[in-house]
Amino acid sequence: MRVFKRFVFFWGICILLLPVVNVSAGKTKKAYITSTIKNCEIGDKFYVKLKGTKAVSYEIKDETVATVNEKGKVKTKRAGKTKLVITGENGKKYTCKINVYDTKRAEDQITVETESSKVTANIKDTEVPRESYKVKPGMLVNFTHIIKKSGNPEGLVYLSKSNITDKLTWRDTDTCKLQKEVIKPLSEMIDAAYKEGKFKYSIISGGGYRAFETQYRYWQRRMGMNPAYGDDPYHNGVICVPAVSSEHRTGYAIDFDATDAGFAWLEKNSYKYGFIKRYYGTKTIFTGVMDEPYHFTYVGKSVAATCYLEGICLEEYYEKYVNVEYN
Ligand SMILES: [Zn+2]
Repeated sequence: MRVFKRFVFFWGICILLLPVVNVSAGKTKKAYITSTIKNCEIGDKFYVKLKGTKAVSYEIKDETVATVNEKGKVKTKRAGKTKLVITGENGKKYTCKINVYDTKRAEDQITVETESSKVTANIKDTEVPRESYKVKPGMLVNFTHIIKKSGNPEGLVYLSKSNITDKLTWRDTDTCKLQKEVIKPLSEMIDAAYKEGKFKYSIISGGGYRAFETQYRYWQRRMGMNPAYGDDPYHNGVICVPAVSSEHRTGYAIDFDATDAGFAWLEKNSYKYGFIKRYYGTKTIFTGVMDEPYHFTYVGKSVAATCYLEGICLEEYYEKYVNVEYN
């Protein structure tokens, strides 16, 4: 009964107020923007208008993505995101988000999707379950194939003078870890390089296995410097990726310090030992990463040979050979 009374009271008030609201709505014309979001392609031209007030100025936040003239005509220039801000005669600002897509490139991208990077970057550490995970050589870890857990992978071992060649050194003396199965081929590769050209290698600090927290901090630092970092990696290329997208979290990736000749030797010969140079400048459209002459990944001999001899990156390998062994 009490509930019913409240119900009657509430609706009674509403009905009483209705004419008042209507009258006031009829008196003031509410100003609004005709679009608050525009999804478009490169080269598109369009107007976004204000209704109920006159537009006095138009502004585009990132003019490398799109431009606007004094009449409010927007022209898109490259893939990316920006905002159009229209100031009305009433002094208020009205915003339209503009997302420009390169649809032609999207067709070429095969396994990658431009929008996913944003999703990946937005995953917070608290949203990733703190569980261990399984890894294997040649597994695909990138902006779209992410590690959905934040624990440690199985199979990691510490590098030590007793398990690896003395031609290799590592900066993180007591804490450098890699997958156990990488140790032997890595040793053989470094010994061969030394034998052929007296090349010596060092693993840079943080250049072996990286914990979720470490990579998360790297990424946060980048985002702190530039919040748009990684918004469009297939177009701009990055050198730092979100924690869920980092190959260093598998224990199969290594960042070396070496001479140019040393890097060149690795690029040419590492496949014989099951490694690949993972990020070529010519493959950014697939990987989202810039050229990294120092980053090598153990993928196993068969995958490495195919990638190297066919001149394809791991993403292209997956596309072409459809995950028969590595699904
Ligand atoms: Zn690396």
